[in-house]
Amino acid sequence: MKLVLLGPPGAGKGTQAAGIVKKYNVPHISTGDIFRKNIGEGTELGKKAKEYMDKGLLVPDELVVAIVKDRLSEDDCKQGFLLDGFPRTVCQADALDIELKGLEYSLDRVLNIDVDKEELIERAVGRRICKDCGATYHIKFNPTKQEGKCDVCGGDLYQRDDDTTETVTKRIEVYLEQTQPLIDYYTKKGILSNVDGKQDIDKVFSDIVNILGSES
Ligand SMILES: [Zn+2]
Repeated sequence: MKLVLLGPPGAGKGTQAAGIVKKYNVPHISTGDIFRKNIGEGTELGKKAKEYMDKGLLVPDELVVAIVKDRLSEDDCKQGFLLDGFPRTVCQADALDIELKGLEYSLDRVLNIDVDKEELIERAVGRRICKDCGATYHIKFNPTKQEGKCDVCGGDLYQRDDDTTETVTKRIEVYLEQTQPLIDYYTKKGILSNVDGKQDIDKVFSDIVNILGSES
């Protein structure tokens, strides 16, 4: 099962990725993780990537693609993989396509966890975190028993600076704008499946299993 997982920040992508990896026994390939690993091990690719990151620059596509290709060439990817955080652009998707052909692989499915903008904003803006123990709550979906106080330790709750309506809206709009061409790209290839991410976590996962169940 060779998969790509797409979803905006706050759509619960991490939780679903963990479930997929466990159920289908495929490696979870997150670009963030492989970057950290390459940098930690001081590989050639890692050194190059670090140069950009140290300067606060985006790592160029060719380098991201090279690092992903390197990872996909490992034996544990032969039976399948779940790509998370890559590709981000149509340009990267094209490059991925070429690399996969080279490995005689092809993507089985691209899952897009779909949550509308208003819901994503509400989820992020209502998030509260305990300043003492880090427990997370939501004023509507997961409220504390006593307002403003942590259920676990009684600590005060705070809202992250970047969870204000304005920054959240910006963050989500940027994501949706960047991702739409990618969704169109995979729709045209006939391998995109939308999953309604507004439902509860278990229902989202069972929808994913239903979609993947029909794959070879
Ligand atoms: Zn607490």
